[in-house]
Amino acid sequence: MTEPLNPGDEVPPGTPGSGEDVCPACHGSGKLADGKPCANCGGSGVIQEAIGGG
Ligand SMILES: [Zn+2]
Repeated sequence: MTEPLNPGDEVPPGTPGSGEDVCPACHGSGKLADGKPCANCGGSGVIQEAIGGG
């Protein structure tokens, strides 16, 4: 049941205290400027980010 993490993910999906954030690499588009899928977020346009604490 372990989903593969994208490079931009800080924590696994569903982790308490985490949430989705717009991918800083593609700004939510899921694609890069050259039209290729964003590897940082896996093309989803969002990443799982740890919120607070650190
Ligand atoms: Zn991205």
